[in-house]
Amino acid sequence: MAILSSEMKNDKPYVLISACLMGCNTRYAGDGKLVENIEELMEKYHLIPVCPEQLGGLPTPRQPAEQQLIDGKLHVVNKIGVDVTAQFEKGAREALHLAQLYGCRLAILKERSPSCGYGRIYDGTFSGMLKEGYGITAKLLKDNGIEIIGESHL
Ligand code: SF4
Repeated sequence: MAILSSEMKNDKPYVLISACLMGCNTRYAGDGKLVENIEELMEKYHLIPVCPEQLGGLPTPRQPAEQQLIDGKLHVVNKIGVDVTAQFEKGAREALHLAQLYGCRLAILKERSPSCGYGRIYDGTFSGMLKEGYGITAKLLKDNGIEIIGESHL
């Protein structure tokens, strides 16, 4: 459902990217994680920055949140026990909307995040330990055919 006309597109593909990897201060602690080779990436791609947690309506800074299984169902709960699953799911839908609007086939996402992490995420104990899994946004993008890479694989 990409709606950009071929005249509006040029030779570079449109790629979704976690906004914090572009140096935007969108992370829960109010900082960013600018990747070293951002200029190289910008030469190669039209980068579309998104922060699913902000798009889902959460403030910045905010409490850190992690995924937990509660009664067999996946939830996202912040460090003070507030369930923020609905905001994470809304943010994922908004990110997918933008990815589809721009015709993105690739997303560069911040590793380990409960939204953006791909393959390994924090384990829900707020102890810094990791487990296998996908961030809520990463999973929705993947399920819709978008390839994901983390910043350490750039
Ligand atoms: Fe970065 Fe994604 Fe977290 Fe936003 S939700 S701060 S883009 S890792």
